[in-house]
This record gives sequence, structure tokens and C-alpha cells, in this order.
Amino acid sequence: MNHILVTGGAGYIGSHTVLELLKLGENVVVIDDLSNSSKESLNRVETLSGKAVTFFEGSILDQDLLVNIFSQFSFSSVIHFAGHKAVGESVNKPLSYYHNNVQGTVSLVEVMEKFNVNNLVFSSSATVYGEGAKPPYIETQTLGCPTSPYGQTKLMVERILADVVRSNSDFKVANLRYFNPIGADESGQIGEDPNGIPNNLMPFVAQVAVGKRAELSIFGNDYATEDGTCERDYIHVTDLAQGHVAALNWLVNQAHGLCEAFNLGTGTPYSVLKIVKSFEQYTKVKVPFKFVPRRDGDLDAFWANADKAADKLNWQAHKTMQDMMEDTWRWQSNNPNGYNA
Ligand code: NAD
Ligand code: UDP
Repeated sequence: MNHILVTGGAGYIGSHTVLELLKLGENVVVIDDLSNSSKESLNRVETLSGKAVTFFEGSILDQDLLVNIFSQFSFSSVIHFAGHKAVGESVNKPLSYYHNNVQGTVSLVEVMEKFNVNNLVFSSSATVYGEGAKPPYIETQTLGCPTSPYGQTKLMVERILADVVRSNSDFKVANLRYFNPIGADESGQIGEDPNGIPNNLMPFVAQVAVGKRAELSIFGNDYATEDGTCERDYIHVTDLAQGHVAALNWLVNQAHGLCEAFNLGTGTPYSVLKIVKSFEQYTKVKVPFKFVPRRDGDLDAFWANADKAADKLNWQAHKTMQDMMEDTWRWQSNNPNGYNA
């Protein structure tokens, strides 16, 4: 029986993707060291789908564990989410990021090659386009220099995977470049549960709304955008999860080794202020905010050209801004303390 291995599957995007895979009847094995997640996410995914997940607690850096797992299951493919993702933290702890994200991927791919598992979907990021890129970002443009060690790890892994494909004509890779994932499964049972003070906009907005934090700080209102606040391409996490399913289906049907990148975004930019106003409009909950100076490394505006994913993967984002806001709020208001309630 074929299985899909999901690394980092207990995390935010991983748990939503595992749910979509189980709903489609796939057999899923997860490895996660729970460094930024809780096993409770997968308990809830099992309840929502009515199907079991096989879970291994441990790191992809542990090759003995990987070999043990690969010996027990026949994997058709791997979806690789595991990694550290805090941009600011990566500036202070670059070696931890290079070790976990880059060496972790090398460790995983070595074991994949050993067991002849040839399909890999990798969590990349729009950050690989770098500072000088002009939006909308498109896959054909030359990649730039990401502004943080975190971004560098994504670029390095993309390059390593391209080299692996050059050396192994059976190996197939889809690098999915996410824009800004937000929202939660419509059940309100799983969602984003950051440790400590949220770095990202949406969980911060949700925690202000639920009364855990007094007000949102909006980083900069003097950017070259319509209302002066930064613009991003926010994508619903369920659309993103379905993008992984589409990428896997495409990958397994390719005859030869390849390494292809796909933007997963909506193609529409929203400003920080518009996000706050939309949240208030659709949830009827006020979000007090103040303007503070710009955050280092933030770019004015970027969004996706997502035509390639539509053409090749037959995938596009369907959820609306209203879905993103209502689903975020359903998750946060049902679980004010995340999975630790
Ligand atoms: P997350 O932190 O919720 O999920 C990552 C998971 O990987 C966590 O459960 C963590 O415990 C696990 N993990 C970390 N290192 C591990 C290791 N060495 N071995 C096993 N498990 C390990 O983050 P997320 O938002 O779900 O992101 C998933 C992936 O997508 C990450 O690689 C991230 O860099 C990438 N990504 C995220 C965003 C975003 O905005 N959320 C944007 C672009 C790319
Ligand atoms: N942002 C903000 N206040 C916060 C968190 C984020 O104003 O507390 C802004 C940030 O400056 C950026 C946008 O929200 O313009 C999205 O930031 P996030 O960290 O969510 O994603 P990024 O695009 O940086 O990956």
C-alpha cells in the first residue's frame, strides 16, 4: 500500500494539507519534532477526516529515524514542510536555520534516494525572489538575494534540489513558492498557533481581537502604496493545502526527472490596513491599532502571478477575503489559547 510522507505535518500548513490528503483517501505518515507545533493538531485532523495518521515524533536530521520510517512504509512521495520559519529569529540564529532547514533537507533527500522515493514537494517562499524583484512575481524571473537567513535557506534548498535532479534523472521536485498563508480550516478546529508573540500579521490581529493583546502595531504607513501600508498576497491555507495535492498529482504523472517552481498566491495584493478593516467588517470585532516605524527588511508590495499553477497544476485559489477573515476568527475565538486550551 502506498503512503505519502509529510514532514512537519503537525504544523500550520502541514496539518491543513494532511487533512486534505486524508479527505481524498490517501494514507499519510507524519514526521514532526513538535518544535513549533502540537500533536493535538493531528488528533483534530483525525477527528475531522475520520481517518488515522501514522505519527513519528522526531527530527528529519535524525537519519536513523528516517531510515526506520522508510523501511516500514512504501512512499509514493514526500511533502516537505519541516523547517524553522521565523524571519527575525533567523537573523539572530543563522546557524540554527542553515542547520535545520538546509541540512535537514539534505538528510531527508539522502534517505529518499536510498529508498528510491522520487517525488518531492517542497515548501518554498516568495522570499526567494529577493529585494530587487518587480511584482507581480513570476517563476521565470531570475531569483534574487533574500533579505534574511531564513530566505537564504529556501533559496539554497531550491538550488540543492535542482542539482539533485541534474544528477538523478528519476527525481522530480515541485518547489511551491507560497505568498502569505492565512485563515484556517472552515471547521474552526485547526489553525495557526504561534509560540509566544506572533511575528505574522494575521495571528497578531486575531489575538488582539480575542483580547490576548491590547493593540496591533502596523509597521510603517509611509510605503509607496495606496494607503501607505505594505501590500501582500494573502492566500487561504485551505487553498494552499489543495495546491499541494494538485502539485503531487502533477508530479507523479511526469515521465522524467524535473525541478519546477510554482507560485501559490491569489494574484491580488491587500494592504495591512485593508486586512484590518476586512477583519472588522466580516467579524464585527474591533481591532485597535497604532502606526509604528517600519520593520527592517519589509518590502513595499509584492504579489503573485499564479498563471503557471493554473495552467499546469489546474489549481487556483477559490476562497475569498471574507472566508479568510471568518475562518481565522472561528479558529481563534473557539481556541483563544490555540491547542493548549
Ligand atoms: P510551522 O512552524 O507551523 O510548521 C513547520 C513544522 O515543522 C512544525 O510543526 C515544526 O515542529 C516542524 N519542524 C521544524 N523543524 C523540524 C525538523 N528538523 N524535523 C521535523 N519537524 C520539524 O510552519 P508553517 O507555517 O506550517 O510552514 C510550513 C513550511 O512552509 C515551512 O517550511 C515554512 O518555512 C514554509 N513557509 C511558510 C510560510 C508562512 O507564512 N507560514 C510562507 C512561506 C513558506
Ligand atoms: N505587519 C504589521 N504588524 C505586525 C505584523 C506584520 O504591520 O504585527 C505587516 C508587515 O510589516 C507586512 C505585513 O504585515 O507588511 C505582512 O507581514 P507578515 O509578517 O505576516 O508576512 P511577510 O510578508 O513579512 O512574510
